Amino acid sequence: MGKAVSKANEAASTKAPPAERKAAGAHNKRKLVSLVVPVFNEQHAIEPFLLRIEAVFAPLAAQYDFEVVFVNDGSRDATEFAIRSRMQANPRLCLVNLSRNFGKEAALSAGIDHARGDACIPIDVDLQDPPELIPEMLTHWERGAKVVNARRSCRSDDGWLKRLTARAFYRIFNRMAEQSIPADVGDFRLLDKQVVEVVRDMGERVRFNKALFSWVGFETAEVTFKRPKRETGTSAWSYWRLWNFALDGIFSSTTAPLRIWTYTGGFLAILSFLYATTIFVRTLIVGVDVPGYASTLILILLFGGLNLFAIGILGEYIGRIYSEVRERPLYVLRSVHLGQEKK
Ligand code: UDP
Ligand code: MG
Repeated sequence: MGKAVSKANEAASTKAPPAERKAAGAHNKRKLVSLVVPVFNEQHAIEPFLLRIEAVFAPLAAQYDFEVVFVNDGSRDATEFAIRSRMQANPRLCLVNLSRNFGKEAALSAGIDHARGDACIPIDVDLQDPPELIPEMLTHWERGAKVVNARRSCRSDDGWLKRLTARAFYRIFNRMAEQSIPADVGDFRLLDKQVVEVVRDMGERVRFNKALFSWVGFETAEVTFKRPKRETGTSAWSYWRLWNFALDGIFSSTTAPLRIWTYTGGFLAILSFLYATTIFVRTLIVGVDVPGYASTLILILLFGGLNLFAIGILGEYIGRIYSEVRERPLYVLRSVHLGQEKK
């Protein structure tokens, strides 16, 4: 578990310390694959999801074992019941309950902290990340890739606005951030244990997992897929939420927006100096020129607007520094239920 997690969280998960839990499965030579599944109000999605997962892993049983780590992100419907009622019969299921809705990024971190597999695959429960890609991912992993990204080959199912904004986001992000992220790759990817351990130890509170996963590096492979529509329920991501998510992504991954103001300020200072010189010389030659209301007002408005915008950008960073220095845990655990054989 990452150092970011508070004592309270550790107390909630003390049923078996990670080392012992690992020892329990040590006799098993098959590699363990952990599927990390954040769930928020998904009572109807659990059953179809598990059926598909089981169908995918059945032919791989000789080589791989799997566990499904559900992170219940404060669901208010019967999601917890839907999972727990299946846990009796299925020792591969684990459930991590958060104390309230913390958002998908935090839920994903909670799941990654509890996954014990040799590889870890974050996957959505709504089957928009097709589990049938997993065998291909495993093949790349066996060949030595530490990260296997699943990239959407086309976004034709998205509306034009979503396509346009998604493209703009990746373009702006990759131009500014030191470490670029692959376009059209979501959280669905395979992460080797080595990568997972690095991600766990990253202390930031403002999480933008896609960028964290890419930052780690290592040999990366890619598989492509066409993203299907949601099987059940509706997406919890409104445009407003996506916009804020994009801002989190940019401001938590790069300080380039701050630097823009150094250049903008410098450029405007040079222009102002030239303009001031012109006015000064003109006043000396042709005397005082009273009209000038329009140009004065335009300059005041322009610089006022730029100042506010620049202060806003500073504020974005200060707000995030504030979140980081408070050192609150990323999520709070309500309870952790491990699969039967791992108790
Ligand atoms: N999710 C979550 N917490 C939230 C919102 C979503 O754990 O606050 C989960 C959700 O249950 C699903 C996954 O994150 O398994 C992806 O969510 P969704 O399908 O709404 O996002 P989209 O596919 O539209 O990006
Ligand atoms: Mg979805």
